[in-house]
Amino acid sequence: MDPSLRDAARRAIGFMPDDEGMALYEAALQAAPLGPVLEVGSYCGKSTLYLAAGVLEAAADTVVFSVDHHRGSEEHQPGEQYHDPRLVDESGKVDTLSVFRNTIEQARVADLVVAIVGASEVVAKRWATPLGMVFIDGGHSMEAAQRDLDGWSRHVVSSGLLAIHDVFPDPEQGGRPPYEIYRQALDSGRFREVSERGSLRVLQRV
Ligand code: SAH
Ligand code: MG
Repeated sequence: MDPSLRDAARRAIGFMPDDEGMALYEAALQAAPLGPVLEVGSYCGKSTLYLAAGVLEAAADTVVFSVDHHRGSEEHQPGEQYHDPRLVDESGKVDTLSVFRNTIEQARVADLVVAIVGASEVVAKRWATPLGMVFIDGGHSMEAAQRDLDGWSRHVVSSGLLAIHDVFPDPEQGGRPPYEIYRQALDSGRFREVSERGSLRVLQRV
């Protein structure tokens, strides 16, 4: 991975450990020749940089679409466990959009990354472009995770990749919805597992 991009990714605010980010980068590098990469859950652009590095290196003339309403998940709201007081606007609401934009521009990948500001389910319903890779890292309620699986996995092309973050087979280690949708994707017979790193799982459309 491009060293300056990796450095920027490591420094960015967010929830993507470097080893799992490297697995994302490798997946994007493999998938980019098949079509665009789409991420659900931009937050401040940390995972986006790993994906962009893969797309850059693939030299496949494609982009990363990164979808987020930029108002944070339940756990990012004021008073909740993962609230970051740096990430609020004048009205006191969570707002990650300007930090996201800075992350992308400072890393010089603005030409490779397209921010889509909106609710994942609203965008997914109108989406029509086949995707080389989908990375699901948005809301972690069962409803949100289910909508992301149903709304986005159908856009992954044959041999394309579906990556899911925060998959914890042991309920002691974390919430279940990402694990539940990972199981559903495998059990559907439409995806097979290709790699596992930390809580990241990468599946391939069969
Ligand atoms: N990938 C990021 C972390 C994502 S955190 C990283 O590497 O650091 C989860 C993100 O999902 C939050 O920014 C939140 O705003 C977004 N999110 C949650 N539910 C969403 C929804 N229904 N539509 C769009 N974005 C959503
Ligand atoms: Mg995550």
